[in-house]
Parts: sequence; structure tokens; C-alpha cells
Amino acid sequence: MSRNDKQNSEKNMNYVTKNRTQHDTKNRIQHNKKSNTQHNIALLKGDGIGPEIVNSACKVLGAIGEKYGHTFIYKEYLAGGCAIDATGEPLPQKTIDGCMSSDSVLLGAVGGPKWDNLAGDLRPEKALLGIRLAMGLYSNLRPVRLFKALKEASPLRASIVAKGFDILIVRELTGGIYFGERGREILKDVTNLSNVEKNDREALLNITKSDSHKTPLKPNLKTNLKESAFDTERYSTDEIERIGRVAFKAAAKRRCQLTSVDKANVLESSRLWREVMHRLGASEYPQVKLTDMLVDNAAMQLIRDPSQFDVIVTTNMFGDILSDEASQLTGSIGMLPSSSLGLGKRGLYEPISGSAPDIAGRDIANPIATILSAAMMLRHSLCLPLAADAIEDAVEKTLDQGWRTTDIAADSPKNYVLGTKDMTAKIIEQILSVSDARLLM
Ligand code: NAD
Repeated sequence: MSRNDKQNSEKNMNYVTKNRTQHDTKNRIQHNKKSNTQHNIALLKGDGIGPEIVNSACKVLGAIGEKYGHTFIYKEYLAGGCAIDATGEPLPQKTIDGCMSSDSVLLGAVGGPKWDNLAGDLRPEKALLGIRLAMGLYSNLRPVRLFKALKEASPLRASIVAKGFDILIVRELTGGIYFGERGREILKDVTNLSNVEKNDREALLNITKSDSHKTPLKPNLKTNLKESAFDTERYSTDEIERIGRVAFKAAAKRRCQLTSVDKANVLESSRLWREVMHRLGASEYPQVKLTDMLVDNAAMQLIRDPSQFDVIVTTNMFGDILSDEASQLTGSIGMLPSSSLGLGKRGLYEPISGSAPDIAGRDIANPIATILSAAMMLRHSLCLPLAADAIEDAVEKTLDQGWRTTDIAADSPKNYVLGTKDMTAKIIEQILSVSDARLLM
């Protein structure tokens, strides 16, 4: 959990504060039980390990609901490869409508080798970009925190790990190269049409620059073309300011250090990014120390000394890559949750990993990132900070007791290595045992 999250939850009376009075505790639990509201959650389980890890998160939410008196109502919608199989499109309108009418969305992951050869617009990943855009989710928060118990699972040297780290990566989510103009072009001067039949030759010559990537070509004709492909990185001042404010505000509540990551030595879009970040910092957040860092250096510094970072703000693609790298420092990509938010309270919460087709259906996926994503959802979208704390504490205690999934097992004894379902059960056991003890106080 980030320092920002910690501060917020402390403001809202942290459930786990060790020195609170018994009287306070009883009142809080009673208050919590009385405030039984219904929360409508759209579930996009997706593909690969998606259904397994989302089921785990729902079981944990079920335990939270039961103990603290909250009702979570789930509606499942198709997204990604499973949606393509069922409806022919990665993000059916019904899914968008369902998400837009929910209080919040919990997503597993989409994609897999089965759909890898589809055209760009039909690929499962289109569902991710589409739902982010439809819900206006422009900021993606990825807390990168090393649990004390997992120091052994980090690939970093002990002397680096000993310093600890608690980083918040703020990634812009609805702009940049993932959403910019893209396409393919035929390189005219290298087209060799001498051995192509007349009709096909005309078809080839009629392919224009703008529609060449959409035009299906007979496989034998493809060899007659030399193509180029392009994607465009474009950011407007408004987009940069919008994500910049999220990052500056987060940094102001933490250690007041913001690192803006770009590639301003090469890219014009990065030069604008840098200018706007500095203007924003100077005019609105003078208390935050803003540092620029080139993305290649940032990739290296994350390994060399992650403790130097507080909040990192960066573009869609750089954030995608750097947060995967950072996740490994914590032991596994299966540990990192994320929240995606726009202007309102409704958000989309998901582990940062993909659908891990290599381990899907084997009950070995680490469910913790998704369970922690559910905790973020409770805090940021459903205004249940105490319940969020209860989940995060239960995860920490379960790890402290030595329980591990394969990806974070390092040198753990074999009998402490659990599958997805058993790890989920251990976390639920923690939630129930802690709250039981409190209710008896
Ligand atoms: P991946 O994150 O799915 O897997 C990378 C490695 O991490 C694999 O070895 C996998 O087994 C492991 N891993 C991931 N999550 C784990 C977990 N919870 N527990 C234990 N190990 C875990 O990345 P990839 O293999 O590059 O992509 C697979 C598919 O997922 C592709 O189709 C890709 O496009 C898609 N993808 C989807 C999302 C998303 O839905 N948000 C994000 C990234 C990639």
C-alpha cells in the first residue's frame, strides 16, 4: 500500500491501528455493520488466469461482506478473447453498458495465443483500451511495494533490498502511442509487380496509403509488397496537465518527490511533456520536488536503487513497461495491483499482469495482485477504507506466516507453497480470525 493510501486510510480510522481502545473498536465495527450498502460490481474475468484470480478476489470480498456487513452484487460481462469467441468482438456494447452502470469494475486479464493472429482491431487487448476510453479512465496508479516477508523473493541484491522501497507509478492511460494514429503503408518504389496477374496487380495498386493496413491481401501477394507500419505518440497539454495533477497531488501526500519519466532527448512529445510538468509544478505544487529522468535511465535506476523513487509519472507506454519491470523487484508480477480512475469515483481495478496462458487452469497463479486490486477498489471507489485495510493486513499477515504461491516461493519449504485456491483460503482465514477477535473484544 502506498504512503498516500496509508494516509487516507488513517484519516478514515485505520482498522489495524494497534493502540486503539477496545471501546473505539466495538463502535467502529457496529457502525460498519449498520452501514450495509449494496455495491454493484461488474466483473470482467477475461482469459487465461483471469477467471481464477477474479474468483479469488470475489471470495475475499465475500468474507469481507459477511464480516463487516457489506453486500457486493456481481454481474459478469465478456471482454477479450472470451468475448471474441462468443460475440465476434473483444468489447461488446453490453460490456461497456454494464461497466458504466456499475459502481466499479474488477478485471482479470485478457488475451492469449489463441487470438494472437487476429488483426489489431479484433485482438483481445482492444477490450482493455476500449473500456479505459469508454469509462474515461485516464490515470493508472500502480503501487510498487516490497512486503517485508518477500525480501528473499526479490531478484535484487540483499544490500539494495535492505533499503526497502515504496513507489507509486502514475501512468497516463488514455493517450500516447497506444491511442495515436497508426497504420501501414506500401513502399511504392520497392513494389515489384512483374510476376503478379493483371487483376491482382490492379488490386495491389489500388491499395492506398490510408487503408493498406485494413485491406486483406492474398498471402501470395504479400510477398510482392514491401510495407512499413507506424504508430504515433501524441500528447496534448491538457492530457499532460491532467495526469500531472494526479501525480503531483499523490506526491504532495507522500514524500513530496516526483520523477517525471520521458525521452525528451529524442521525442518532441516528451519535450512538451517535460515543459508542461515543470510549468504545472512551479505554478501549483511548489512543495513537490520535480526531477526529470530519461526512460532508459529510469529502467536502470529502478534496478540500481529503487529506494530513490517516491512517485513516478510517465506516459502510457513507458508506464506499461516500467511498472512490469518494477513489479519483478517485489518478487513477482503476481503481487502488483492497480487502479484506473477518471474524474468520478467509478474505477477499474486489475492486477498489472497479463493472462499468463502458460499457467492458466493449473491453480498455481498468484491471486494476491487481484485481491489487493479489490482492496484498492474498496478504498477508492466504494469508500470502504476499513475493509480495504482488513484485506491488505490479511495479505501481509499471510505472507508473514510464510505462505507462498510458486512465483514468490524462492527457498520456502515445499509445505508452505500453496495453489491459488489455498492461498485465497489462507487470506480469508486471516480476515475472519482478525475480525472475530475484534468482535469478541
Ligand atoms: P503475463 O503477465 O501474462 O505473463 C508474464 C509471466 O508472468 C508469465 O511467466 C506468467 O506465468 C507470469 N505471471 C503473470 N501473472 C502471474 C500470476 N498472477 N501468478 C504467477 N505468475 C504470473 O504476460 P505475457 O505472457 O506477455 O502476456 C500473456 C497475454 O496477456 C498476452 O496475450 C498479452 O497480450 C496479455 N496481456 C494482457 C494484459 C491485461 O489484460 N491487462 C496485460 C498484459 C498482457
